[in-house]
Amino acid sequence: MKYCQGPSCHMYKTKDRLRGPKGDKYYQTRRRSSFYYLGGNACCMRCQDDWFNKFGEQAVNHFGRIHKPIRLIQENAWVRDYDYDWETRTMSNHRWVNTITKEERPMTREDYNNTFLVRP
Ligand SMILES: [Zn+2]
Repeated sequence: MKYCQGPSCHMYKTKDRLRGPKGDKYYQTRRRSSFYYLGGNACCMRCQDDWFNKFGEQAVNHFGRIHKPIRLIQENAWVRDYDYDWETRTMSNHRWVNTITKEERPMTREDYNNTFLVRP
């Protein structure tokens, strides 16, 4: 079980956040075994946005702000492709395709399944 990391989670007045005995009620941060937002750390989009608004700038600076464009160059632009026949449900013509130059190079099915290969 973990707590939602939304800094204002306890401020949102929902029944499930309301705790405590009669006369001593309070709202508290949600706790769950898993969450769908903020990479599994926030209970809802609102809490995800709250977190980012408060910490996003610091997080980007901490983990590495991009100061110059990142380029996808020809050398790294290779992707796998194949043809699929829906009638026979078979794959054929496995190949490398360069997404920049559109060049195609044939590849074996074995190479297609080898995830360590990233280019021809
Ligand atoms: Zn929350």
